[in-house]
Amino acid sequence: MKIYIFPFLLYILLNLSLCYSELVIKEYHLNSKHISHVDGCKRIDNDDNFLVTKYTTVDKKNKQKRDRTPLTEPFEVTFNYTTGTNEQWEIIKESVNYAKELFNSIFDFYTPIKILLQIVNSVENKIAFTEHAVYYQLKKPNEKYGYSYPAPLAKQLITDIPIDFEKNRQHDIIITFNGRSVVRKNNLTPTMVHEMLHGFGFSSLIKRVLNGKFYNDAPSFGREYYMPDILTIGDKDTGMKVIKGFLPINVYEKNFVDIANNNYYFDDSFCSITDIDLNYEIHDPPYYSEKEKLQDLTSYVESWSGMQRGINLYEKSHQPKSTAFKTKDGRLLYVCTFSKSDKPDFNHICSRNMVYESEDVYNIEAEYDENFVMHPYNIGLALSNEEKIQKYGNGKTIGLLSEDIISALETMGYHRKGTPQDNTQYTVVTQVVNTAHTYIDGHFVDDGTSNINQVIQEEEEEDGAFSLSYPSLIYILFITLYSFITLY
Ligand SMILES: [Zn+2]
Repeated sequence: MKIYIFPFLLYILLNLSLCYSELVIKEYHLNSKHISHVDGCKRIDNDDNFLVTKYTTVDKKNKQKRDRTPLTEPFEVTFNYTTGTNEQWEIIKESVNYAKELFNSIFDFYTPIKILLQIVNSVENKIAFTEHAVYYQLKKPNEKYGYSYPAPLAKQLITDIPIDFEKNRQHDIIITFNGRSVVRKNNLTPTMVHEMLHGFGFSSLIKRVLNGKFYNDAPSFGREYYMPDILTIGDKDTGMKVIKGFLPINVYEKNFVDIANNNYYFDDSFCSITDIDLNYEIHDPPYYSEKEKLQDLTSYVESWSGMQRGINLYEKSHQPKSTAFKTKDGRLLYVCTFSKSDKPDFNHICSRNMVYESEDVYNIEAEYDENFVMHPYNIGLALSNEEKIQKYGNGKTIGLLSEDIISALETMGYHRKGTPQDNTQYTVVTQVVNTAHTYIDGHFVDDGTSNINQVIQEEEEEDGAFSLSYPSLIYILFITLYSFITLY
């Protein structure tokens, strides 16, 4: 009798525990900004909780929209009027109107892109800064590994399930201007276009590792290389951190090639590390007993098959004109690698007419090319748009956008007007997660138990099965029930 009750109860308990799990879409939130100064644009990362995974529940009742009629007004701009004068807002509106019309005249957009514009008054020489877009992992039908897509782009693609983009962040692009720069004599429009391009995807997600130190508390093994960044979730209340896995390669960097041989850097071997769920649960800072897990993490990275590619990219990043974004029509847009700096700038396009030695050698305006709006340096305030286009555009631009930049956006997945529709259906990478100790649908869910979430395994889409490890609460319940049965 007892033997028959046992599997039955187990079955009930398994189902019971599944009730606490949700099918979710992963989102990657980066705590970093692209900051345009008067002499150039730099990226600033905030090391504290730099990269956090958040989730949105999949609403199965919500039907996927299939309407591919381009929007006439694809940009929804919110102006945060709490700071700034009327005149400053007029200047910003002129710039954003130009940028909206420019992008809308070249590309078709199917879901509105939400932009928040703000003004802060800062004494620094900043012009503006853009917060990193939220990224989603999408997979094309023939791809082995998914890639990260910024929200403004993910919104325009056909996906197998609908994504609610606003649960964890309301705006796709957030640009803040420094009030001191918002004055009549300055031409802020190139900065606006530049910042929007960062939001559209011109933004690096790859992690540079120096001396093998890829994670704060993990033991290092002394090499220099590039790798996918590490995903974590921290819980301030419990002082716990979960190292979840690795950030998928960005759809922008996916197109990076080694100019010497035209080979793509990020092949399947490089991406293989992003498909793993680690779920290492550690205290922050880690307890002595948890060091072993971090040792495992190091061994894991050391034996990763993409390491050689990562080392290769690191070496190339010390040679100017070594790495480029390759567009689908074969154009090469050089990203900024330097001979005299250990830190390349993958977030920007360099002029093909200049050899950049280091981040500090840039004052050679005459040699700018038509990609000037995405150059890192001196995107400038003094010249009007017309003057800039005349001076640097070489007849190869539509407004401030060069054919190179337009082609790069097309390569990432934006649809250029008048070109054939791409009906690729992207798979949104989902997971089943326990909703405790998780950023989900705009909240940090804490169920009050001391054990941080253990219940995450990638859903096996092929056979529809997934495995789960169960929270200790379920074990306790099970043991109690089993003891009860055996007693009677
Ligand atoms: Zn920039």
